[in-house]
This record gives sequence, structure tokens and C-alpha cells, in this order.
Amino acid sequence: MANILTNHNIYSRAFIENMREKMKPIIEKVIKPNAEMIDKTGKFPRENLLALAKEGWNSVTLPEKWGGLDLGYVGLSVAAEEIGKVDASTGLVYAMHVGAAQAINLFGSETQKERWLPQIRQGSLGTFSISEKATGGHVWYNLSQAERDGDDYLLNAEKSFTTSGGQADFYIVQTRTADSEDKQDHSYFIVDGHDKGIVAKPWKALGVRGNHSGPLTFKNVRVSHNDLIPASGSDVLNGTGAVLGLNAVWLGVAQGALDAAVSHVTKTVHRDFNKSLADYQVIRQKLAEVKIRITGLRAWQLDLARHLDELRALNEPLLPLASEIKEHKVQATELADFAARVAMDVAGGFGYIEGVFERMYRDARGGIPMAPSNNVAREQIGKELVGLPLELWEEGK
Ligand SMILES: Cc1cc2nc3c(=O)[nH]c(=O)nc-3n(C[C@H](O)[C@H](O)[C@H](O)COP(=O)(O)OP(=O)(O)OC[C@H]3O[C@@H](n4cnc5c(N)ncnc54)[C@H](O)[C@@H]3O)c2cc1C
Repeated sequence: MANILTNHNIYSRAFIENMREKMKPIIEKVIKPNAEMIDKTGKFPRENLLALAKEGWNSVTLPEKWGGLDLGYVGLSVAAEEIGKVDASTGLVYAMHVGAAQAINLFGSETQKERWLPQIRQGSLGTFSISEKATGGHVWYNLSQAERDGDDYLLNAEKSFTTSGGQADFYIVQTRTADSEDKQDHSYFIVDGHDKGIVAKPWKALGVRGNHSGPLTFKNVRVSHNDLIPASGSDVLNGTGAVLGLNAVWLGVAQGALDAAVSHVTKTVHRDFNKSLADYQVIRQKLAEVKIRITGLRAWQLDLARHLDELRALNEPLLPLASEIKEHKVQATELADFAARVAMDVAGGFGYIEGVFERMYRDARGGIPMAPSNNVAREQIGKELVGLPLELWEEGK
């Protein structure tokens, strides 16, 4: 991290713009042209991920020792936003992957890092598998429990959603360990994604159709005790900054919707009075509102990213920012939804028919239920605000 603070100035706009420029060829030549096909066919965006890996963007937060770009959370924010502008499916797969890699980088043992991190730069893909139907959006509370079997664990779990399910090369799987009766226990295993006991069900959803975020079953998957991440569950769940990467994708979706809307309204002319859609004040007002909100959100995104990078540089835990990242998550996902609705509105009937506007409108809904769902987030933020306990494992009397 010292690298970022000394070689790059994370406070400089030129540094950030430079990263955007560096991403442009992959965005324009690979990810953007694939977006419509991915949405139509539900094809997993492997080609996009490999293109990102080739240039090191899939290892954006990893140190150079592991082939990473070492660009920290500022680098992640820029990359995820750029991808989100053109394809939310690829953006979410990317952000979950960077978060999973970061879980090993920040909390893994040296042996785990040596086993899992070097292959990432070659294209190895990771993700988090956490949510269970039994406890829904209370993602910190799993009922599944890995059983101890000699030096190994046997993993049996029904996960309700897992981005890159059936596609990932490694999963960071959250479950309880049988050693503990404690309900608060949640542990993380690094699991080989090619194990025969892992079965993915199809993902059929309104949007982000290339995501493969369907149910995932782990049946008698044998995991060595060496693959248990040696950190507390809440450190891993809240301490990787993974949600900030997802937020950047939603920021990108909002910007992508605005870009598409501006392009449409400036090019579309009503020939009766020879006025473009952009000549109507009501349309300009709506677009301006989206732009103003995006500018505010981006400043907050970069501020949080810089704080995370500073904490990393000092080798401090990232947990103190988890609550603010949750607030930012609500704002980012609701802004993507708002921007996509405005874009559809100003594009009229052409916004409603099959195409970029309706794709973004469907994609933009995806962030709202993702953990922490916006209802759960508001509930927790409100409780913290008035000094009430979160009651994560025990209901209040
Ligand atoms: C596109 C997508 C990708 C995903 N990717 C992953 C992934 O990679 N890994 C993973 O582990 N999971 C993933 N998930 C799951 C996601 O993170 C949530 O955990 C899950 O969608 C919420 O669970 P549920 O559907 O059972 O909702 P429920 O918990 O049943 O919630 C239903 C409704 O009740 C509200 N609600 C629930 N509890 C409370 C409460 N205590 N207070 C107030 N309101 C409440 C919710 O906000 C929601 O509106 C993904 C989901 C989506 C949509």
C-alpha cells in the first residue's frame, strides 16, 4: 500500500482519470460489445473476466508479489464503475471476485495465500457464498454447519444465491463449524470450485442475467482444516470492503443510464418544430438531477475508498468503515434505480422497447435486495442512530 501513497497520488483527479483511460480499451473493445448478448443469452461473462485478468484488473487490490496492480480501493472503485457503466452483470461478478481475493489477501494464512493468490492473475475466479434460504437476508446468521472429519471438514450447505455460482474457481463459503455450538459462529472456508460435490442451479432473473447468482449446493464437500480462514467471521464479512466494490458498479450503472439518455435526447429530433428532446426543459431538468446525484455519490465513493486505502497503509482493520459503506450502499443502489427510471422516461416509447434502456432498468433493480438489503440496512442504521442493539442473533425481550 505504501506503493499507492508514494508512487500514485490517490487524491489527484489526474491519477483517477489516468486509470479510467487505461481501462478504456477493454471496456470499449470487449465488455461493451458483449453486454447485449450476455443479457439475451445469460452467458457467463468469462471472456470479459479473462480480458480484465490479462491486464491485471482482476488483481486490482492485490500486492505486486501476487501479480496484482496494488491500486487499492481507489483502483477497485474506478475499475468497477467503468465496468458497471456498460455491463452490470460483469461488474457484479468482478466486484464479488475482487472481494473474495481480498478476503484471502487480508485474512488468509501464508499457506492459503501461496495456494490461491498466484493463480488469480492467470484468470482464476472467486466469489462469496453466504446467503441461505433459512435465514434470508440475515446473512450473518447461517444454519448450515461443517462437520469435523479428522483433519478435514465435511461441508453440507444449501446456499440460496451465489454470484458466479457453478463458474467460480474458488468460493469463500460462510458456514458454522461443528466445533462450536455458538450461534454467532460463522467461519469461512476457501473451497475449490471444481469439487464434484458442488452443484449450481440455473439463474433466471429479471436482470443481471449473466451473473449466474442462483442457488448453490455443497454436498459432502471435503475441505482441509488448512482452508479455514484464520479470522473471526465478522472480520471477514465486514472487513474486506467488498460492498464498496459493488457500490461502484451501481454508480457505474447510474452513469451508464445517464450517458445513454443524453445520447438519445440529443440525437432524437421531432420534425414538426425541429426540436430535439434535449430542447425540452423538463427533460434537461430530469437529467441534471441525475447528474447532480451521481457527482455527489462518486465523491463519497472515492472518499470511502481513500479511507480504506489509508487504513490498509497503516495496517489497521477496515471494520470501522463498514457502517458508512452500508449507508453508501443504499444510496448507490437507489441512485442506479432512479437513473435507470429517468433514462427510460426521457427516451419515451423507445426507452420501453427491448434495448439498452430496458436492460439497464432491469439490471438496476438487482442491487436493492443484495446484502445488506436496503430494508435491513436502514433498519440497522436507524437502530445504531438511536442507540438500540442490532439483535443479530437474539431477539430482544
Ligand atoms: C443479483 C444478486 C446477487 C447475489 N449474489 C450473492 C452472492 O454472491 N453471495 C451470496 O451469498 N448472496 C448473494 N445474493 C443474496 C443477497 O445478498 C441477499 O442475501 C438475499 O437476496 C436476501 O435474501 P432473501 O431473498 O431470502 O430475502 P429475505 O430475507 O426473505 O427478505 C425479504 C424482504 O424482507 C426484508 N427484510 C428481511 N429481513 C429484514 C429485517 N430484519 N428488517 C427489515 N426488513 C427485512 C428484505 O429487505 C426484503 O425486502 C445475491 C442476490 C441477488 C439479487
